[in-house]
Amino acid sequence: MASSEPPPGPGTAPHGADRYSFLPGNVPLAVERTEGNHIVTADGRRILDAGGGAVVTNIGHGRREVAEAAAASLAGRDYVLPPWLTPERAALTDRVLDRWLPEGLSRATFVSGGSESTDSALRLARAHHVAAGRSSKWKVIGRWPSYHGMTLATLAAGGHRNRRRGYEPTLLPFAHVAWDDPAAVEAMILAEGPEQVAAFIAEPVIGAAGGALVAPDGYFGEVADICRRHDVLLIVDEVMCGFGRCGTRFAIEQWGVTPDVLVAGKGLSGGYAALGGVYATEAVVAPIAEADLPFMFFTYGAQSSACAAADVVLRILEDEDLVARAAKMGDLLVERLSSELADHDHVAAVRGRGLMVGIELVAGRDPHRWYPAGARFTERVVAEALARDVWVYPAGGGDPIADALLLGPPFTITEAEIDQLATVVRASVDAAAQAVARDGSDPGPTG
Ligand code: PLP
Repeated sequence: MASSEPPPGPGTAPHGADRYSFLPGNVPLAVERTEGNHIVTADGRRILDAGGGAVVTNIGHGRREVAEAAAASLAGRDYVLPPWLTPERAALTDRVLDRWLPEGLSRATFVSGGSESTDSALRLARAHHVAAGRSSKWKVIGRWPSYHGMTLATLAAGGHRNRRRGYEPTLLPFAHVAWDDPAAVEAMILAEGPEQVAAFIAEPVIGAAGGALVAPDGYFGEVADICRRHDVLLIVDEVMCGFGRCGTRFAIEQWGVTPDVLVAGKGLSGGYAALGGVYATEAVVAPIAEADLPFMFFTYGAQSSACAAADVVLRILEDEDLVARAAKMGDLLVERLSSELADHDHVAAVRGRGLMVGIELVAGRDPHRWYPAGARFTERVVAEALARDVWVYPAGGGDPIADALLLGPPFTITEAEIDQLATVVRASVDAAAQAVARDGSDPGPTG
């Protein structure tokens, strides 16, 4: 094949589509292009991207100015060592520090995704304590449920049973507490030994593991006090909920707390480039610099073209007032879903903040009863929605949330698309419940 020809897509390939999936047997959806709030498939279907891919897309797809900025950057500077400075890195750092981050977070470094950012935050916490002379501190406390990424350290800190499944022996023995109880955080620090606990990590709004579970009012204020008392760093994971997704620049602002370390990825570049970020207070990083401890970079961290793309994405969010729009359209989405699904037998809750909205799926509401894992209820609902040309993101898969949907559409979603989404979600839940009833994979409350 001439090198200028595009590679054959799964829709047109001479090979079976299974060739394009790492695990045999999966047939990937063949996508031809993305535009506005839609994904267009190789066979011409226009799918409403109500999951924003993996809750990433915020300014909508296909904004030329982002592609042009990335292309111009790539033409001028392809690869530059991450610790060195390029105009794109300087511009993005300035924008993030000056216009986005909560007061007090004055240090930023960019990596190439969410897992790299949370993994770096865990490493940063350890380095901070070692540098400050507290080298017995290494443990991390996480929550059930939570998700912080797929590296072994972040998987260990995370509380997503399904994603941890099979890897347990390789995971550091980090402790976890219930997601909604600040007193449990202190009890666990004391049980683990405050002299050994380096950090507590939490998502303000729990994404894939929780289906947009929102931490209780006052939760982060109490947790911040507890962490401070025991010299434990508070790491807030906003890989999914940050950069406007929850209707404020960062979700943690809604609790009036500044963490020691904040990580945020997805929305930073809105899906246009592989980028994540780690942000910290001066007090966290200063001892590391003083002690001259290593803090190694990743080869593809802060790629200049990715920084250029992210800078334009953030500028668009600012210029078009899209964070305020996420708050407004999020309220509308919850209202429409609540009226569509009120008293639905298989929906226990509709919740979230801004355009990060979860729908808790159950076998029965009263009494609350999950479908057995074998019914694969979430998976079925997602497939039913996709068959109706709407992409919604699967969530749950552990304790205490077994089945849920996560909606994270672009902030540009329209009112008509919200109506379409609510109608399709209802029809998809109904169809999945009927299919489970037909094939008997739910033996019922007494089964
Ligand atoms: N942290 C949270 C809260 C996430 O939602 C995710 C991904 O969904 C990650 C970390 C990992 O990010 P990535 O998939 O970019 O590695």
